[in-house]
Amino acid sequence: DPASNNEQNVIEYDPKIHTYNMDRQIVEDIEKAMVSNELFLVYQPKVQSHTRKVSGLEALIRWKHPENGMISPGVFIPIVEAAGNKIFDLTDWIIEHVCQQISQWLQEEIEFEQVSINIPGSYITSSRLYEVVTKNLENYKVDSKYIELEITETSVVHDIRHAITAINKFREIGLSVALDDFGTGLSSLSYLKRMPISTIKIDKSFVDGISNSEKDSAVLKSIITLSNSLNLKIVIEGVETEEQYNFIYSMEEAPLIQGYYFSRPLTSQEFVSWTNER
Ligand code: C2E
Ligand code: CA
Ligand code: CA
Ligand code: CA
Repeated sequence: DPASNNEQNVIEYDPKIHTYNMDRQIVEDIEKAMVSNELFLVYQPKVQSHTRKVSGLEALIRWKHPENGMISPGVFIPIVEAAGNKIFDLTDWIIEHVCQQISQWLQEEIEFEQVSINIPGSYITSSRLYEVVTKNLENYKVDSKYIELEITETSVVHDIRHAITAINKFREIGLSVALDDFGTGLSSLSYLKRMPISTIKIDKSFVDGISNSEKDSAVLKSIITLSNSLNLKIVIEGVETEEQYNFIYSMEEAPLIQGYYFSRPLTSQEFVSWTNER
């Protein structure tokens, strides 16, 4: 039962045991994993900082390997991405399972606004992605407003014009698009103005220092002010402590919060209990 896998038991990337052969094995095994129930999704709530209401959830992939135990997506996703087209198959698998889950939650009248899906940068401009998304929305009778695509800034900067065209296409049919890990890449604030995104996700690294450093809190504040003036929905990632929460609570922009302070990523079942108990 995947639900019994505790979040804390995920194996973290260890460069000492990370070899070429291991990478090759991972790429080989991921194909089997997709058809043999080794993969499952967990969902991390995003909570409105003032009202504490659940706004959305981010779908995050988990892999319980039959021999190696839990392998973290921080380890296998980059390896599968580097290996070429398999990342497309994996993303299609995720899209289908998210649509299925949304349809189930809607039938059970579970309250949420949206589920976000991480889309690899190499896939966002592909017409295949557009077809897979629209087909699954149709098959599972899910309204496009329930889906948000998360793309990282580093993945779009190398081909910004095509990225803009692709994002616009999804926005036109009603999907939201979030810029993930904002602040970790080399791109600058000027991208924010050009990208037709709906949401900005501010990376955890901006949050880590806010209780100790006035500079860090000033930087976070100014990114939030700017994003707000661009009418972007704001998600702050990696909020872990009460102190960090209080700092964000004091901001009138009332950004969304995603982090262990409110909840770790949860299995579908765990999310239903968590949300019913609040
Ligand atoms: P990400 O997209 O930035 O996802 C957020 C990561 O931060 C998740 O790690 C989440 O569990 C973790 N996190 C959330 N709140 C906190 C917190 O308060 N403190 C700390 N320390 N961490 C927090 P996870 O699930 O291990 O995923 C790592 C990365 O792997 C993701 O970063 C994303 O780049 C990739 N990934 C995960 N699932 C998928 C997926 O379904 N598709 C793709 N393409 N990539 C995925
Ligand atoms: Ca993400
Ligand atoms: Ca992120
Ligand atoms: Ca990240």
